[in-house]
Amino acid sequence: MDYFSSDFKLGILGGGQLGKMLLYETRKWDVFTKVMDLSPEAPCKIACNDFVQGNLLDEDAVFNFGKDVGVLTIEIENVNVDALEKLEAEGVTVYPQSKVLRTIQNKAKQKLSYRDHDIPTSDFSRFAYTSEIKESIAHGGLQLPFVWKSAQFGYDGQGVKIIREIEDLKGLPNVECIAEQFVNFKNELAVIVARNAQGETKTYPVVEMEFHPEANQVEYVLCPARIDETVAKRAQEVALKVSESFDHVGLLAVELFQTHEDEILVNEVAPRPHNSGHYSIEASYTNQFEQHLRCILGLPLGKTDSKVAGVMVNLVGAEGHSGDVVYEHIKDILGKRGVTPHIYGKKQTRPFRKMGHVTIVHENIERAREIAQQVKDKIKVISK
Ligand code: ADP
Repeated sequence: MDYFSSDFKLGILGGGQLGKMLLYETRKWDVFTKVMDLSPEAPCKIACNDFVQGNLLDEDAVFNFGKDVGVLTIEIENVNVDALEKLEAEGVTVYPQSKVLRTIQNKAKQKLSYRDHDIPTSDFSRFAYTSEIKESIAHGGLQLPFVWKSAQFGYDGQGVKIIREIEDLKGLPNVECIAEQFVNFKNELAVIVARNAQGETKTYPVVEMEFHPEANQVEYVLCPARIDETVAKRAQEVALKVSESFDHVGLLAVELFQTHEDEILVNEVAPRPHNSGHYSIEASYTNQFEQHLRCILGLPLGKTDSKVAGVMVNLVGAEGHSGDVVYEHIKDILGKRGVTPHIYGKKQTRPFRKMGHVTIVHENIERAREIAQQVKDKIKVISK
């Protein structure tokens, strides 16, 4: 199949920042793209060849969108999987495959899959409704503290709550959920595994993720992670085992906990480019977006090593600000060494909405982290 400057069409479900960054790569290779998103102002709109406004959860909309593409991929997991299954039955190549998405979309199914494949993960119980949790605590079946997670439609820390006392359950939606053992971790790590249709795999270096304490959202990503060689090796081995268990095609970002005993536990995965791999645009031989394209088009995989240390800092909407966005002090940070901002092009900001990110590259990871702190303190994402 010829993809470059040809009649081939790549379909992408979702038009957010991950799609936009994937489109830098399709532009580089002159691969024709068609994107679907509900928002007529989606960040992808300016960079794709065809834009279709449509609901990603609507079976007919997704089916009709996917009928005429050569390969269909996603930049967000919450899409209609029944439509993907139908498209596969009609001969459309869908990567990641519908079966992978079906398991990953539901956190209870995802955790069960780890258990079935003997992959280390924290213990959990599944509940059809949040209201059943109280009974389980009363009967001694569940110990506090634990982590409540909505089985479906959670992202960026929404749909996750640490329950330290019964009162913390108040106000949670009464939906299918899991109660996960609270992990008192030392570090949150991630490993991106790339896998193409021929089954060739490559892993990116282990990254360290620093989270915002209240928002449950990644604030900084550091590559390489400042951990022992043996722990890094173990993290990559676990990530590869997860990748094998899903038999996916495309990228798989595996989020991990490193416990105080240096045990590695799988938290969750995403079968697509991921926030933990944005540093790769500036720091790696092959960035994660180009790598995802190589995977889904059945091309040889690129080198995953870094050329230089990288730290990424997320630019999220400031608290107390909603409305038309303004980025304050971008010019100032551009004067610092090795700093590249990425602005996603979302018109409206709101508290903790991901609006952009900044990558800092440096020979020294500690120095890169210091500059990242200065960037974070300087830039403000506010409303007009
Ligand atoms: P999301 O799908 O919203 O990203 P995650 O499952 O990754 O949700 O959880 C968000 C964050 O909540 C994690 O990165 C971690 O900081 C915290 N967290 C999740 N599960 C646990 C756990 N079992 N123990 C302790 N903290 C957890």
